[in-house]
Amino acid sequence: MNNKLKIISVILLTFLIVAFAMRSLYKKVEIVEVGKIPIAFNQIKPELSIKHPKTPSPRTNEIPSVVSDKTIYLTFDDGPSYLTTQILDTLKQENVPATFFVIGAHIDEYQDTVKRAYNEGHTVALHSFTHNYKYIYSADQNYFDDLNKIKNKVYNITGNNSRIIRLPGGSSNTVSKKYNQGIVSRITNKLNDNDYYYFDWNVDSGDASGKLTKDQIYHNTISALHQGQNIVLMHDTAVKKSTAEALPAIIKYAKDNGYTFARITKDTRTTHHHINN
Ligand SMILES: [Zn+2]
Repeated sequence: MNNKLKIISVILLTFLIVAFAMRSLYKKVEIVEVGKIPIAFNQIKPELSIKHPKTPSPRTNEIPSVVSDKTIYLTFDDGPSYLTTQILDTLKQENVPATFFVIGAHIDEYQDTVKRAYNEGHTVALHSFTHNYKYIYSADQNYFDDLNKIKNKVYNITGNNSRIIRLPGGSSNTVSKKYNQGIVSRITNKLNDNDYYYFDWNVDSGDASGKLTKDQIYHNTISALHQGQNIVLMHDTAVKKSTAEALPAIIKYAKDNGYTFARITKDTRTTHHHINN
């Protein structure tokens, strides 16, 4: 009888010790894991993190932005111009979203057009106010003064605080070397650290060089399209009529060949060139 009681006591005691030990262990594991999670999340760069929740949009006729394994991001630099309306008409007719990297030159004159681009669901992004290489690439402060100027201008027109940027000449430009050694490296680091998202391109319509026909622009563009993310460089200035004219055929080719269209947002994976200065 005494022996049985002893055995039961030992079993009970052992059970209690094991239970207590397991509880302490569980607590420890919990503390370690909880402590780890915020650090891991902090280490993820904003553009690589999980999609941001979609905030309600004030836009009326938003064109769907569809990201697939063959996506085209049409981008138009140096506008607005008298051709922007023609580009917007084509995009509306084809139900295709795009991204406009605007400059200060004609922005006052075409405020309604810029507003229309925004209201129709396109991204109105920041290129430069002056687009003057000598000025913006002479000093870091000049670049950021110029950027703030175009940012405020776009905000006053659209009510949107754009953080999407394309550097004049792209981040691979070498012209900046003439004015300030290393300036593009410093600028892009600051942009990355300050919640700006800069985008270069990986498909060039070629419309920056000389006066191409609409057929040349069409062929340059479609021959460079590929699987994955296609960021297409085009221009929207008064002398680029052939770009606006090539657009319908480019869109038709893309749709016939299974591409979808999207506009650049903070969630878009960035395409960056190699920085040469
Ligand atoms: Zn430009």
